[in-house]
Amino acid sequence: MRITRILETTVPLAGNIANALVNFSEHTISLVAVQSDVIRNGKAVTGVAFNSIGRFGQGGILRERMIPRVLAAAPQTLLTADGKQFDASQVLAAALRNEKPGGHGDRASAAAAIELAIWDLNAKLNDEPAYQTIARHYGRTVTDKRAAVYAAGGYYYPDASLDRLKAELKAYQEMGFEAFKMKIGGAPLAEDIARIEAALAIAGDGKRLSVDANGRFDLEMALAYAGEIAPMKLRWYEEVGDPLDYDLNRRIAEQYDGPLATGENLFSTQDVKNLVQFAGLRPGRDIFQMDAGLSYGITEYAKMLAVLEAHGFDRRFAFPHGGHLINLHIAVALGLGGCEAYPGVFQPFGGYGENCKIGGGYVEPTDAPGFGLEEKEGLAGKIADLAF
Ligand code: MG
Repeated sequence: MRITRILETTVPLAGNIANALVNFSEHTISLVAVQSDVIRNGKAVTGVAFNSIGRFGQGGILRERMIPRVLAAAPQTLLTADGKQFDASQVLAAALRNEKPGGHGDRASAAAAIELAIWDLNAKLNDEPAYQTIARHYGRTVTDKRAAVYAAGGYYYPDASLDRLKAELKAYQEMGFEAFKMKIGGAPLAEDIARIEAALAIAGDGKRLSVDANGRFDLEMALAYAGEIAPMKLRWYEEVGDPLDYDLNRRIAEQYDGPLATGENLFSTQDVKNLVQFAGLRPGRDIFQMDAGLSYGITEYAKMLAVLEAHGFDRRFAFPHGGHLINLHIAVALGLGGCEAYPGVFQPFGGYGENCKIGGGYVEPTDAPGFGLEEKEGLAGKIADLAF
């Protein structure tokens, strides 16, 4: 068994929306297909994945460095010992051959797209959903295939108004979501507080509403917001300052009692180790949002979870960034706290397939083989266009 081809296409994200720092209208994603020499029903079994949401496609790194390395590796070195599956960690190692340690930037999401496609491929070889393949690999049994889910939205739209924000959250509620997240830090403090109060009017309770500053605040601004939102007892206060400024995070944690959330812009196990050692995070309270699709895939993500647990944190406080099918399967497989959803935005990658049940604050993957990306409207065509 061997890999015969690896293809990448860069797909633009739909939507003209912004958070505190970034306008997503220029964002792209790398959709990757890894084709095997296994033929079923006249077609090569092919794994498909992408490198999460919120950054950029990585066609250059993939085509110039990683894809040639994987294709040049001796085929048997990319298989598990029994030869029945591809070994995701070995494929990742091949993709990273000759790369120095440290400096986990865009290459981490480039590598993730290939690594995740291997999981999709293995699951299709097993003819089962990816959560089963992932869970089995890590010695876990899935007893509940639902994942708690919240709707992430509340961006700074060009036609921003409080009524628009309320209507947006109301629409999510009608889709079956019970918890929500909104952006802050893209408007003056008083305006943002009015936005949060408007959102609370729909959410009904602070424990159903989180706010995300996307790393924008310094200590002074972080604490100014903290003082205003503390009485609202929000679900969490996300990525308050620079994601790598662990000292800043520690200072905020010393003065803000509510849950903090961070980690979506940490791309390696070592970064997470530094986070839990130096950022003042509190077991049983704070939330971790590392995203396998931005950080070398599930191989590295599982190591991050091990670091959390070695430092007294519980994986049920891990809610990966990136609301899409791949992270849904990972959350179900690895017993995480849940995942996010971006209903209606970041298409065609955001959100879940039409057949995924959403209700009561949960979302459930289907039993389609792999991550089920071929079932998702808008994405199926992109996959089909990828030369298969
Ligand atoms: Mg965030």
